[in-house]
Amino acid sequence: MAKYKLEYIWLDGYQPVPNLRGKTKVADFESFPTLEQVPFWGFDGSSTRQAEGHSSDCMLKPVAVYPDATKENGALVMCEVMLPDMKTPHPSNARATIQDDPDDWFGFEQEYFLYKDGVPLGFPPGGGFPAPQGEYYTGVGYKNVGSIAREIVDTHLEICLEAGINHEGINAEVAKGQWEFQIFGKGSTTAADQMWVARYLLLRLCENYGVDVNWHCKPLGNLDWNGSGMHSNFSTKHMREVGGKDYFEALMAAFDKYKNEHIAVYGPDNHLRLTGLHETQSIDKFNYGLANRGASVRVPHSFVNDGYRGYLEDRRPNSQGDPYQIASRILQTIATVPK
Ligand code: ADP
Ligand code: MN
Ligand code: MN
Ligand code: MN
Repeated sequence: MAKYKLEYIWLDGYQPVPNLRGKTKVADFESFPTLEQVPFWGFDGSSTRQAEGHSSDCMLKPVAVYPDATKENGALVMCEVMLPDMKTPHPSNARATIQDDPDDWFGFEQEYFLYKDGVPLGFPPGGGFPAPQGEYYTGVGYKNVGSIAREIVDTHLEICLEAGINHEGINAEVAKGQWEFQIFGKGSTTAADQMWVARYLLLRLCENYGVDVNWHCKPLGNLDWNGSGMHSNFSTKHMREVGGKDYFEALMAAFDKYKNEHIAVYGPDNHLRLTGLHETQSIDKFNYGLANRGASVRVPHSFVNDGYRGYLEDRRPNSQGDPYQIASRILQTIATVPK
């Protein structure tokens, strides 16, 4: 028997976007625990905007377990929040609304800013601005990326891979202090689960550097600095294997019809980012385009070349969006289109 440190991770009840919460449970296991072996747990929902004080218990239902390489016998336990009956999802539990299908695939491209002392990493601490955008995207060298960002993003990659998270890559982004990583997963909830755990790991890692992650989609307001998105790439088995131009056009018509429902869960303050500038479409319009980075949905060349089969990129979700709500909405809209 060994003592395992299980970090239970869940989403709180804050609106419009939940925060990550976590607490540690020590438990004995013969070897690294399977999901079935990890027990339900509880927490005080009155401290997380998930319950009233007089009846404050909420339950944590483990849904995925990942090794935590930063600790001896450490595990990261992603959880859904349940009511005390342990069967009914809490109203804040968006994961429970996702139509589950192992053949639904998602790839999320998470952009974010690293912040120190209230400004993006690399901005002069007392005010003012660094050189304008141009050389930062995929840039190298101290003047472009500073001295600690690279260590943070590379260490984050290592920790994610050790956890079995399908982290696919990193790039320095267009604004100074701005970065991206991508996560891909097969199964309706896989990439979303891993994205939340990857966000958790990045936040926790940054504590060591006195750095915060700013997930806001337009942290520098309307100045001439890029905002942050979370482009959401998706495909179903039907899209990959059958597809076709008629089905694609019907799918896009459904995305147009439910435009407002999509925007509602694509992250707060998105009107600040989806302006029609900086590689975006305006928030009140829906369009799609071949390899068009100014479109709501970008259609990859490979999609058209392969007979309208493959994946599509919804470019509207922002960096603060909840991948559970995003995946849930995309699948809901797809389900309205006859195959
Ligand atoms: P770009 O920045 O040009 O949009 P990225 O490489 O950052 O491209 O992101 C592409 C994303 O598309 C990745 O997250 C990848 O996993 C995802 N993806 C690739 N193929 C599929 C697929 N068949 N279904 C869903 N997502 C996919
Ligand atoms: Mn990308
Ligand atoms: Mn990007
Ligand atoms: Mn993209």
